[in-house]
Amino acid sequence: MTMNATGGEATFADLGLRSELLEVLSALGYEEPTPIQREAIPPLVQGSDLLGQAATGTGKTAAFALPVLQRMPPPGGGAGPATLVLVPTRELAIQVSEAFHRYGRILGTRVLPIYGGAPIGRQLQALKRGVDVVVATPGRALDHIGRGTLDLEDLRTVVLDEADEMLDMGFADDIEEILAATPEDRQTVLFSATLPPRIDGIARRHLNDPVRIEMGHAAAEGREATPLVEQSAYLVARAHKPAALGRLLDVEAPAAAIVFCRTRDEVDQLTETMNGRGHRAEALHGGMEQEQRDRVMSRLRAGTADLLIATDVAARGLDIEQLTHVVNYNVPSAPEAYVHRIGRVGRAGREGAALTLVEPREHRMLKAIERVTKQRIQVERLPTVADLQARRMELTRAALEECLIQEDLEPFHAVVESLTDEFDLMEVALAAVKLVHESSGAVLDEQEIPEVAPRTADKRRGGREAPDSERYTRAPAGGMVRLFFSLGRSAGVRPQDLVGAIAGESSLSGRDIGAIEIADRFSLVEVPQAAADEVIAALRRSTIKGRRPTVRRERDTRGRRT
Ligand code: AMP
Repeated sequence: MTMNATGGEATFADLGLRSELLEVLSALGYEEPTPIQREAIPPLVQGSDLLGQAATGTGKTAAFALPVLQRMPPPGGGAGPATLVLVPTRELAIQVSEAFHRYGRILGTRVLPIYGGAPIGRQLQALKRGVDVVVATPGRALDHIGRGTLDLEDLRTVVLDEADEMLDMGFADDIEEILAATPEDRQTVLFSATLPPRIDGIARRHLNDPVRIEMGHAAAEGREATPLVEQSAYLVARAHKPAALGRLLDVEAPAAAIVFCRTRDEVDQLTETMNGRGHRAEALHGGMEQEQRDRVMSRLRAGTADLLIATDVAARGLDIEQLTHVVNYNVPSAPEAYVHRIGRVGRAGREGAALTLVEPREHRMLKAIERVTKQRIQVERLPTVADLQARRMELTRAALEECLIQEDLEPFHAVVESLTDEFDLMEVALAAVKLVHESSGAVLDEQEIPEVAPRTADKRRGGREAPDSERYTRAPAGGMVRLFFSLGRSAGVRPQDLVGAIAGESSLSGRDIGAIEIADRFSLVEVPQAAADEVIAALRRSTIKGRRPTVRRERDTRGRRT
């Protein structure tokens, strides 16, 4: 781990970043570099090549974007872009472009995402005007190189992001062809969630004496550190995370919980949201004065607050007796951070719970944490509205039971007696329970939180083709429809060509695509029902193996649409 001169963990300033970038990071509420950033930024700033193993959620985008921006010649220097980032999907092209834009705005860096499915005219205009960073899917990048509209002569840095995914999607040849069109003396950076031999092959051919970084081999101490903590994770789309957190806290009803966020802004926003939902939440982050922080801590200790929403930096060194729950609002950026966080509960033999919200794309990171801690993190279903109602009823029942055992109820005798003149005793009890239940202050929460599936890497292309016996007879998998492509084996079409075209031209990633069947003169590809029209529209504008296919929903023999 990179340390600074005083022996503490390195800050962004220690990593050699220029002052404008430090300002941006501070304005974004980033308090400290993530482990991959600590390791990768110094050599990249020096111009080294790098082979990094890092999944989404580790902060890898900033790990390569910040050094690239640091080394960027002043805008308007060369004719062509100075940086090319290759990514597997349109979705990632947009995300990475947004990150470059966010970090580089202050330097005037011009960023252009290039992917299939978007009108090429705008891309051509932008390229003509001049851009500094191009973030592209391999297919569309090659298209522009072929047309002579993407000039790679001035390129200083090439980044291959999520390289394993690009290979899985059949982009290996495209990547080779693009790299062959770049200057020999370029800096090359390769990030990949996994490092299979094929990635090593690319690294050997195209990287020059690279620095190698592999994350997630430390923190073995986590094994003993966390035996009493029950760990669970919940898959949830980003848009539903505040509701998911609220639901979990309502159902778990922790005595005191700490919720970890990535940035100051996230802490402030979430504190406001949770207070709006009736929780007693307090924010704690590095942007606060010591005096403010002390006040927060005393409110927590006195029990006037029960929810602490904090960044890692601000929570470091805190020892809070009452804590029963640690919530990771995002998957932490490294297994080590996870181990530190959950070590805050389950202390001194007490039991604790650690809950982690996981966006589908962060699922891999969760697996990395399991590997390092050698403990399973149970992925559970988020409580439904019915679960929540049942839990509230249970709490009401428990409150009544406690009252029956402990309280002196004599003063209320007369009330009940006078009511029983007119009503049945059972009815009186029901009305009393209803009043207690309704006065418990529970916020009405009746929106179901949609379930999402993880983006796992299990669906490798090798397993995609259906066995012969099943060919053309099976119904598509649930939620999927089959698309008909008018090109097949005789046109040289392989599964990877179809996956590459669909993922390159639409918002789907390779993992969203289901079974592929290739016949001599046509192919059938399963895609999620909701994305079918988008895929059809996108593919009509593009070519596969140099030919423009007819694409439509498959009709079965009775003419019914699938
Ligand atoms: P990535 O792994 O690149 O997809 O980044 C995951 C998320 O972490 C993104 O939302 C980033 O904005 C955020 N992030 C990256 N670096 C930091 C940092 N040092 N501190 C806080 N958040 C960060």
